[in-house]
Amino acid sequence: MTARILDGKALGLAIREEVAVDVAKLAAVGIKPGLAVVLVGEDPASQVYVRSKGRACEEAGMYSVTIRLPDTATQDELLATIDKLNADPAIHGMLVQLPLPKRMDSDKVLRRINPLKDVDGFHPENVGKLVTGDPTAFRPATPYGIQQMLIRSGIETNGAHAVIIGRSNIVGKPMANLLIQQGPGGNATVTVCHSRSKDLPSLTRQGDILIVAIGRAEFLTADMVRPGAVVIDVGINRVEDATREKGYRLCGDVEYEPVAAIASAITPVPGGVGPMTIAMLLKNTLQAAELTRAE
Ligand code: NDP
Repeated sequence: MTARILDGKALGLAIREEVAVDVAKLAAVGIKPGLAVVLVGEDPASQVYVRSKGRACEEAGMYSVTIRLPDTATQDELLATIDKLNADPAIHGMLVQLPLPKRMDSDKVLRRINPLKDVDGFHPENVGKLVTGDPTAFRPATPYGIQQMLIRSGIETNGAHAVIIGRSNIVGKPMANLLIQQGPGGNATVTVCHSRSKDLPSLTRQGDILIVAIGRAEFLTADMVRPGAVVIDVGINRVEDATREKGYRLCGDVEYEPVAAIASAITPVPGGVGPMTIAMLLKNTLQAAELTRAE
């Protein structure tokens, strides 16, 4: 079997076009959805993500602002920036780009964001809403994008066994919470694996849908995959490659070619989960702006 490639770039673009249509409708009633992205420091990968988020916002007709704080900024300065954005009516959604410098308390910072503007969905109020199945939750963009990709690609989650590798608050845990909810893209039986899981291959081979989010280049090999499984690769890893101009290449957490040879569907890296994440961030910002319309 050669896997069908799940084209996140095309699916993400389709979602962004849908968002742009709704943004235009809001413009007609005088609301321009606004997203603020706060970046502390100079992390090169974060700079790239922040730039593409801003660009995507503008392409969808939204207002976008990036606030860059120097590496030397204090936590109090960051909290004061969040307070200002919480009070700014032109900003409907905001996010603080992670990871933050180690000296900062990420939990404290994320809790400072007004839950109604928390488009990353990391505030405990939104986490709680997600767990309890409250549809007003902001769903973290990466797992939300993966769920949309499954739905829009006609991959049945209802009754499927989804095996997730990784239990981060950003990907693994919210992914599990989305897949166990009732409704489209839900009703799955979910197993969450992590670095302490025993005999990982025996668990991963049970997955009808395998979602890999650990941050280790080409970790998932073909012997860990049941033939015919759907494989979603969340990882973005830089691997040294002297033949490339930049000196590195990007690869996922899945050993792509051998796994694609036995899976029924697979996401590439790049061009899989990444573009879906950005599309869902825009969708969440639209959702935040629509809240103000209802006020
Ligand atoms: P974290 O480092 O926060 O979490 C990694 C998880 O993987 C942990 O739960 C860890 O287990 C688990 N893990 C690590 N090694 C193993 C192992 N050998 N066996 C089993 N489990 C293991 O990473 P994130 O969730 O933030 O990100 C994961 C990857 O996804 C990264 O490459 C990141 O760049 C990428 N990413 C991509 C996004 C996109 O838009 N495409 C968005 C967000 C992330 P334990 O908890 O026990 O330590």
